[in-house]
Amino acid sequence: MEHTQLPRVQRLREAGHKLTHARLTVLDVLEHSSGHLTSTEILDRVNQVDASIGRASVFRCLDLFTRMSFVRPTYIDSSVTPAYVLLPDGHHHHIICTRCGVVIEFEDCGLGDMAHMLEDRLGVKLAGHLLEFYGLCPACAAAPAADSEDD
Ligand SMILES: [Zn+2]
Ligand SMILES: [Zn+2]
Ligand SMILES: [Zn+2]
Repeated sequence: MEHTQLPRVQRLREAGHKLTHARLTVLDVLEHSSGHLTSTEILDRVNQVDASIGRASVFRCLDLFTRMSFVRPTYIDSSVTPAYVLLPDGHHHHIICTRCGVVIEFEDCGLGDMAHMLEDRLGVKLAGHLLEFYGLCPACAAAPAADSEDD
């Protein structure tokens, strides 16, 4: 039961959620992944650990973890299913190239002051943020613009 000491496990317990086997397994998969995982990838990895955990159960865990701000769904690569990103310290930031779809992660957002200001001004209690910039990656920015689209 070594992972009952993880901060997210403690937050689940403090929020009054039962530490079910499914929840701990999905959380463990998320903790040991980096970047983004689609719900299908999460399901595959969970089932590698325990094939008895069903799809509906995994989705309920992801809904709960989204409400807890452990993860956020994000729609990249114009997929219909969201990828889930782990918010390591309650925040996650990336830049998506609108031409080639590459995702560039970065750590330093400088939004801590803004969060405090919003909390003071609006009386909200913020748990995290997901910041997406859209634009051109260095390679696409350097390439000549494509004039003609397929349509
Ligand atoms: Zn990202
Ligand atoms: Zn690009
Ligand atoms: Zn941030």
